[in-house]
Amino acid sequence: MVRVKFVIDGHEERFENIRQRIAFDTLRRKIQQQLAFVICAVHSQEPRVRGVGCSVSEMEYEVFGCCDQMTAKARVALQVI
Ligand SMILES: [Zn+2]
Repeated sequence: MVRVKFVIDGHEERFENIRQRIAFDTLRRKIQQQLAFVICAVHSQEPRVRGVGCSVSEMEYEVFGCCDQMTAKARVALQVI
């Protein structure tokens, strides 16, 4: 499973309330589904994603991968969110 972390208002994985937590968990699952088949052909690694922003609808994503090819592939897969 692809690891997805959120940084909300500068705090990593700190949610204001249960509703916000559920919203981010839903978003996390969506991202994980989108990247489920993105695995590096060379290194057999999965990408990692970090979402930074202040709400579910205003996240900017950073993608980390084992190599440039993989990172590019993961970015393409993520753009459909
Ligand atoms: Zn790789």
